[in-house]
Amino acid sequence: MRRKIIAGNWKLNKTISESIRLVNTLKVKIVNVSHTDMIVCPTFISLSAVAEALKGSNIQLGAQNLFWEENGAFTGEISGPMLKSAGCSHVIIGHSERRQYFGETDETVNKRLKAAISAKLSPIVCVGETLHQREENQTFDVIKAQIGGALQGFDTSELRELIIAYEPVWAIGTGKNATPEQAQDVHSFIRSQLEVLFQADFAASVRIQYGGSVKPENADSLLSQPDIDGALVGGASLDADGFAAIIKSSENLI
Ligand code: PEP
Repeated sequence: MRRKIIAGNWKLNKTISESIRLVNTLKVKIVNVSHTDMIVCPTFISLSAVAEALKGSNIQLGAQNLFWEENGAFTGEISGPMLKSAGCSHVIIGHSERRQYFGETDETVNKRLKAAISAKLSPIVCVGETLHQREENQTFDVIKAQIGGALQGFDTSELRELIIAYEPVWAIGTGKNATPEQAQDVHSFIRSQLEVLFQADFAASVRIQYGGSVKPENADSLLSQPDIDGALVGGASLDADGFAAIIKSSENLI
């Protein structure tokens, strides 16, 4: 049985004091949650302060990106060991906004994944097709290439903490979520790809989150699908009530 995992991607939102306020409010709302892993991913600048605010709670901390080198002349970048030292346990890699606006490719996702693993950060690797690709019936080909490219060169012992987030680009921040059936179809395809690339028991153990306009109103129907093991939540994670309600949907499905 895979444990559900709900992560909040705050993107470019919240100052340090707003971030602390948000987790302090959230902490109170999720005190009784015990069957769901919970992660918040603030901006880099808020990580240490949020780590401090999260002490004693069971909410974990994630970053939104990392660079593949550990240190050196790479102005503006941040490395795995630095994120670890700020209190992170998780890191998002290859979010579609990184792919769309910052030139992220399957090859750079692969390099970042290597860096996350060597820093002992649990990676959340994002994949997903654009609307055009879906309309051209390319969804499975795109996902296959993204999974293959991201995971190339790894063995299962390195990928024990791997989390995959399926985030159809057309559903991110648009208010238009994939139907539970559309999401389940792709999640099950991702699992079948993991089986082809690795082994069946590994494929069965990997947690696959859905992301794309997850809200309290649609969380139940998405999270109750057999291959949907959690959610990567953008907009709705910026509000403590909304995010807590999504976490509780997951908790109630146990
Ligand atoms: C995301 O940022 O990963 C995301 C899914 O955003 P939203 O929930 O706002 O669609």
